[in-house]
Amino acid sequence: MTTKICPYCKETIYSNALVCRYCKRDLPEYADERVKVQTSSNWIPALLTSAFIVTGTALVVYEFLKERRNWQDRE
Ligand SMILES: [Zn+2]
Repeated sequence: MTTKICPYCKETIYSNALVCRYCKRDLPEYADERVKVQTSSNWIPALLTSAFIVTGTALVVYEFLKERRNWQDRE
């Protein structure tokens, strides 16, 4: 378990503590870290979704062009 210094009372506390055990204050640093982790993991599903849309569109266009070639062959 790693420790850090409370910014309010300067006592040594656990680095993942939400509230200082000495002065009972909320520790904003940990909340900030959590927001950062959430933001950095959000781009992965967004990237997968856009990649899926691009692949799907390309497949539809490819199938359309293939079908159109078949129509032209028949004429
Ligand atoms: Zn404290």
